[in-house]
Amino acid sequence: MTGRRNFLKASLLGVSASALAWGSKLAANQAAAAQPFSGARVVSTWDFGVTANQAAWTVLGKGGHALDAVETGVQVPESDLKNHSVGKAGYPDRDGHVTLDASIMDADGNCGAVAAIEHIEHPICVARMVMERTPHVLLVGEGALQFALEQGFKKQELLTPESEKAWHEWLKTARYKPSINSEVQDYGRTGNNSKTGMPGGAGNHDTIGMLAIDAQGRLAGACTTSGMAWKLRGRVGDSPIIGAGLYVDGEVGAATSTGVGEEVIRNAGSFLVVELMRQGRSPQDACREAVMRIIRRRPTMTKDLQVGFLAMNKHGQVGAWAIQHGFSYAVCDAKKQDGLIPSQSVYTTSNS
Ligand code: ASP
Repeated sequence: MTGRRNFLKASLLGVSASALAWGSKLAANQAAAAQPFSGARVVSTWDFGVTANQAAWTVLGKGGHALDAVETGVQVPESDLKNHSVGKAGYPDRDGHVTLDASIMDADGNCGAVAAIEHIEHPICVARMVMERTPHVLLVGEGALQFALEQGFKKQELLTPESEKAWHEWLKTARYKPSINSEVQDYGRTGNNSKTGMPGGAGNHDTIGMLAIDAQGRLAGACTTSGMAWKLRGRVGDSPIIGAGLYVDGEVGAATSTGVGEEVIRNAGSFLVVELMRQGRSPQDACREAVMRIIRRRPTMTKDLQVGFLAMNKHGQVGAWAIQHGFSYAVCDAKKQDGLIPSQSVYTTSNS
């Protein structure tokens, strides 16, 4: 009898606990449903995201698919010879090879990626073909190049004279230390960026992560980089790792990252941001918590490095957070095509 009573009590407790959980889930869903869909929008990391977004908008503005938009958008920095950390003209590894990482993902969990691919100007397009034309998610190195050539991509020299010169300069000391916010410094500007206040100069890493929602509410994301300049041959960062540099879930939202990829991989960063949004956090709060997770695990080391997250939920709301001051993200929608917003950060003054 006592056993049965305990069983009933436990069952009732179980029911009420799950009813409570269900109730709060319902409340969160209702709150989310009450938020209006903001219409088509594209966001991307750093100030070079502005022109990339505008290219993506040529697709989104016409009612096109978010996946086509992000693939189109990130090809702009991939081809930009002034950008030394994405695509062609990217700074090489310590042995002088330009090796590129890229990934793409849609709202249904379809994804493709290439890592350490050489001689191909648009790794993002190869990543999309991995997604659409193979049963795999990730191709690397020689195999990725072989696949690209079979698909009709042209082999080309990605090391430009300018990047080669920078590499020879680096070889004089061969010191390796990723510098904070090199993304901003890297973009061929002299003087301070008027929006972020960051200085010009020579940096050594960078990524464009782009997230889009189209007029039908479909989400997609893309991420592409030449990774850390002067890296060890074979080093792969977070950008082509689904769940690290990029993650999209049509039921929740999407996230992407920039900065020191090793720290993002260690924490499955973009997946974490999406899961935090699933629990009801805003995009900005989810990014902040993911950054804090990285800092809590390596408090001393993270003082000197940058990681930034950018997220968009399924309603088109956007947020970002970074470890260091200086991260910015570009926003483009029907109202404004050249928005650039400084991200909030844990450290509010530059450590670099
Ligand atoms: N996340 C990139 C990597 O680690 C670099 C960057 O965004 O700065 O390869």
